[in-house]
Amino acid sequence: MRDRVEILGVGVDPVTMDEALARVEGFFSARSPHLIATANAEMLMNATHDDQLRSILNGADLVVPDGAGTVWAAHHLGADMPERVAGYDLAQEIMRRAPSAGRKIFFFGSAPGVADKAKLKAEQLYPGISIVGTRNGYFSADEEQSIIEQIKRAQPDLLLVALGVPKQEKWLAAHMDELNVPVSIGVGGTFDVMAGVMKRAPLWIQRAKLEWLFRAMLQPKRAGRLLALPKFVFKVHASRK
Ligand code: UDP
Repeated sequence: MRDRVEILGVGVDPVTMDEALARVEGFFSARSPHLIATANAEMLMNATHDDQLRSILNGADLVVPDGAGTVWAAHHLGADMPERVAGYDLAQEIMRRAPSAGRKIFFFGSAPGVADKAKLKAEQLYPGISIVGTRNGYFSADEEQSIIEQIKRAQPDLLLVALGVPKQEKWLAAHMDELNVPVSIGVGGTFDVMAGVMKRAPLWIQRAKLEWLFRAMLQPKRAGRLLALPKFVFKVHASRK
């Protein structure tokens, strides 16, 4: 297993998709709770001013390089980072393998109705898949315990949580021991994409490493978040030894 590459204080695993999947298989076999984070430039920038997020990421069992910015940063720092492993793609690959392995999955997060639509999509894409529960991601503090009980009762092997960054990582870190699910991943907009609420960039744009630009154009409300990117480039460059 190669050493993590430290980018702005967060260790990112230099793994290919196949290596990430092999690690995930190990987590399923071990049965104890494991946390997977998908680090893109925006998350790494957040972690520079959010100590709690930074320590959760550094304590995660696997941190995949989600995003062209993360791969660029590793290379700029002189480290090896074989390829981008997008959280969306990782979740799909794990789901693709779930029916033959008999794994149960829970979808938690996104707006009311979206996780249910994503479940239908998963059932179409991966025949025989067992999505044992869904729950939307808008809840009050009073409702939290009942969500935890719902997930525990369902006894999933995989928990996908879409509450946005850093809420999903903090929620999982706080509850993963109690939930006792072997593999949990914060998946951001994954259910929105599966439900057709949000689109991923066409492959040629992904290959041109411009998916971030495509997303900003589709969701102008988020365009302000793009400012994090030049800051990220500047900070990574400044951190070069
Ligand atoms: N979301 C949620 N509860 C919240 C905030 C967000 O379920 O309190 C969902 C939102 O509906 C979306 C997902 O979290 O499906 C990701 O949100 P966003 O795109 O803002 O996240 P990021 O890009 O930071 O992962």
